[in-house]
Amino acid sequence: MVTDHMKELVIQIRDRYEQTLANIAQLARESGRDPESVKLVVVTKAQPLEIVRAAVQAGATILGENYPEESVTKISSMDAGSSVEWHMIGHLQSRKARLVIEHFDLLQSLDSLKLAERLNRMAQEFGRTLPVMLEINVGGEESKYGWQVTNEKEWPRLYPVVEQILGLKNLEIRGLMTMPPWETNPEDARIYFRSLRLLRDHFAARYTNANWNQLSMGTSADYGVAVQEGATLVRIGTAIVGPRPLIKQGGI
Ligand SMILES: *Cc1c(COP(=O)(O)O)cnc(C)c1O
Repeated sequence: MVTDHMKELVIQIRDRYEQTLANIAQLARESGRDPESVKLVVVTKAQPLEIVRAAVQAGATILGENYPEESVTKISSMDAGSSVEWHMIGHLQSRKARLVIEHFDLLQSLDSLKLAERLNRMAQEFGRTLPVMLEINVGGEESKYGWQVTNEKEWPRLYPVVEQILGLKNLEIRGLMTMPPWETNPEDARIYFRSLRLLRDHFAARYTNANWNQLSMGTSADYGVAVQEGATLVRIGTAIVGPRPLIKQGGI
């Protein structure tokens, strides 16, 4: 049964989803980019199943989640024929690695070699390959996960990490992801997005046998700047599905 409440939710979310897509497309064109090169990940972390369903009905094709157990409940309750892609975008504890191998399409937030090795082993047991993105802590904040790389001089620090991950046969690198320091003015995030793109370009030139196409950066507050700086994936929650219930707000 489709309730009026559900219909109302779908209409609201569809409006905001389509408006966001239109904004992204326009910003991409103005920056001389192909609008098709930017994909929108709708972040449903900490949102109830009803919101997830409404987002899918509203047209969302990629959903981003942060908490593995909560996500598995959502993923398992989708219709069998559903073609939604699920991205894990939050810090993943090693002991929950199996949940990602079994249920997710891609891990955006790979943040340690130990986790990479564990995921690789489990992916092999499970008979799959897991696409991953390396999370980079471009602001060097202690409170954030990801490899700290705040300037060009620190690039070489990551070479051994990348080389070891490239050697893991059941992981497949797709690019880089970042969550920059929180700024009230989105313009202040530009230098961080740019530094992620430069690092990506450097890796793409240095490790030509891997695919470095994806740059995941930008949230509700600053996705416009991220698109101008080359984002291929923007992760937007509140601007599309509304505020998160307080209990789990503020996930990294
Ligand atoms: C929650 C979250 C987002 C979405 O943030 P909004 O402000 O709701 O758009 C994006 N990326 C990550 C890693 C997140 O944890």
